Amino acid sequence: MSRQTPVALPEGYIDFYMNLENWQNEQEIKLKQSYMPEHIDVRRLLTNNQKNLMKQNQFTIDPLQLKNTYLALVDFLNNNRPINNEVTNNLRKAANKLDFANAAAILLGDDQSYFIELAEELSVADELLIFTVDHALRPYLRMLAQPYYEQFNQAEMGFWSQASFCPFCGSKSHFSRLREEDGRRFMFCDRCFTEWESRSIYCVHCGNDQPNSINFISVEDDNAYQVYTCEKCKGYLKTYDERQTGKTTDLFIANIETIYLDLLAQEKGYVNHDAE
Ligand SMILES: [Zn+2]
Ligand SMILES: [Zn+2]
Repeated sequence: MSRQTPVALPEGYIDFYMNLENWQNEQEIKLKQSYMPEHIDVRRLLTNNQKNLMKQNQFTIDPLQLKNTYLALVDFLNNNRPINNEVTNNLRKAANKLDFANAAAILLGDDQSYFIELAEELSVADELLIFTVDHALRPYLRMLAQPYYEQFNQAEMGFWSQASFCPFCGSKSHFSRLREEDGRRFMFCDRCFTEWESRSIYCVHCGNDQPNSINFISVEDDNAYQVYTCEKCKGYLKTYDERQTGKTTDLFIANIETIYLDLLAQEKGYVNHDAE
């Protein structure tokens, strides 16, 4: 069961994402059965390097296996979302055209025109095609990142402790948590589930650390879910404060169910600097 959010979300919205996350967990468990992670000294590679780990190390994703996962995800969408048969068929057709060997690199890169052109060719919405590739890849990204979660969590890694980009896969983070024991902040990547420590009174967008220009807002009676705002760059970052509830939460779901905080921040003129 999802929690009662202060602003009502569309019927079935959170359930869809919970089902999707469960589906991805199942895929990840299956994939792990034939995966042997290699030992990597994350701290050594990242401390003085601004290239994320996926760029520095050649992780391989089997294109045929990914194609199957992609097709399974199209089936999942077909069963869990009101999308019509034509759209489903077009997404299935995309499986014969997609460059699965390079899909991760393209998705994680800055230029999405490859997907936009393919979507046009197949007459599907580009967001839907990108969503499908993105979410089919996530079980792989999580499997690849997981052996290093602890290293990312513990190591103080210079540049990365000031970054809003994931040190493993390079995705932009929109969510952090404040740890219950000590209030230290950890950024969260919803693609690969890596967490990395970031300074707490600090804007991950522009580096501002003037206490009087970093504030937070929350909704009444929902104090654990907060938005940190920066007056210098007008950036915002959503945060779950474990100290308010004494418990951890699923940050993937927390990010999705706090869409009202995005709206609240944006209404007040703050941005998540996504397009940069
Ligand atoms: Zn990541
Ligand atoms: Zn800022």
